[in-house]
Amino acid sequence: MSESMPVEISPVYEGERIRKQDMYVELGGPNVEHKCELVLAKPMEEVEDGKISIVGPDLNELKEGSSNPYAVVVEVAGKMVEKDLESVIERRIHDFSNYIEGYMHLNQRYDIWCRISKKAFNKGLNSFKWIGMALAKLYKAEMPFIEKIQITFYTDPEKVKEIYEQALKIYEARDARARGLRDEDVDTFYSCVLCQSFAPQHVCIITPQRVSLCGAINWFDARAAAKVDPKGPIIPVAKGECIDPIRGEYTGANEIVEKRSLGANKRFWLYSCFGYPHTSCGCFDTILFYIPEVDGFGCVDRGFKGPTVNGLPFSTMATQVGGGIQTEGFLGIGMEYYRSAKFMQADGGWNRVVWIASTLRARIEDAIPPHLKDKIATEKEAPDIESLKKFMIERGHPLAKKLLEMEAAAKAEEEKAPAEAAPAAAPGVTISGLPLPAAGGAGGIRITLKGAKIRINQLIIKKEG
Ligand code: SF4
Repeated sequence: MSESMPVEISPVYEGERIRKQDMYVELGGPNVEHKCELVLAKPMEEVEDGKISIVGPDLNELKEGSSNPYAVVVEVAGKMVEKDLESVIERRIHDFSNYIEGYMHLNQRYDIWCRISKKAFNKGLNSFKWIGMALAKLYKAEMPFIEKIQITFYTDPEKVKEIYEQALKIYEARDARARGLRDEDVDTFYSCVLCQSFAPQHVCIITPQRVSLCGAINWFDARAAAKVDPKGPIIPVAKGECIDPIRGEYTGANEIVEKRSLGANKRFWLYSCFGYPHTSCGCFDTILFYIPEVDGFGCVDRGFKGPTVNGLPFSTMATQVGGGIQTEGFLGIGMEYYRSAKFMQADGGWNRVVWIASTLRARIEDAIPPHLKDKIATEKEAPDIESLKKFMIERGHPLAKKLLEMEAAAKAEEEKAPAEAAPAAAPGVTISGLPLPAAGGAGGIRITLKGAKIRINQLIIKKEG
């Protein structure tokens, strides 16, 4: 790397986390409304190779400890650079940024969250020009089809807002391209393992009707990437035989998942949250989560602050969903998948969705089928499970009948329970007021835990004898 770079640039820094007490400044992130990153393919004459621009205060002009609006615009040109490649080039901002010592980059598109560490700042990482120089070099080295590159960093709040609004329109236009193409219409899917640096077992399978869970790469983007960079993280997947068209299981996808996860996962049901769900890394746009009390799904996006209907915020569920592990009932999914006709097809699709965070709803209102518009609650109508049940019954949600049956069955079970339990042989022992049978007494007691969360810090299994 350049002699003058003040910090090291290496893949060993991928996965480096900068905690709040160690950060010099924060760029984007949850405390800031406007943030984004954007790659634009341009004609050769419109790109000045190596040019780095800064619009707004530079790093050394930002207040220590502050969170700032932030946009990064990368303009690229080359004979092989096409519009189709913009998303894929853009997604590499994530890993290339994380190669820079002391610069943390999370998420993608309109959701980026970056931090500069105090240590790196003190070593001299005090200007965006260093980040720009590092990114330009890495792009040229790793994606040699890029012949010219110029990068602009924005921290001026008004300018960031302007870029953000422009970027949202561009993301929407990219996403819209894949609508209309069905999984049945193609014989090739694509697989991406870019996130294995964070989630080593994770493999994305990208189909026309199932966008990547980061939401940044659709089937067209993946096809363009595999063509121009055949040794890169995105490769074609021969679809193979369709084992189950409802659950979305394909022999070709299974084979590639097993191979690229090094045997950790062997089967994917692409259109289900149960059985063999798609794995999630950590970059997902949104989380779909099962709510057992109503046998339905809730959905929440990264931008939603506060607890969801099950009492857990996005961040807590993200730790359960991520890491490349198949987790039944929890799924990280890309925003565009909500618009797919294959959305959770095996589990009931939209008819199974009962709760959606208002921030997510604002983004995907158009995806909600008309007959469900007034039947799916947000945190405003249903902040908890009991209010959700009430809402579903009042509004006649498709799951309301089943919910009433579940409630009736649970009540009958509760009423039956005392009759089944044998009386305690001797009184005297109580836990929280519950009489327990004396040692050797017959029968026992039934304890029903409703809405309980059980945490086990350690489980020791010993062989008897
Ligand atoms: S989430 Fe999937 S498609 Fe997106 S960068 Fe990660 S591995 Fe690739």
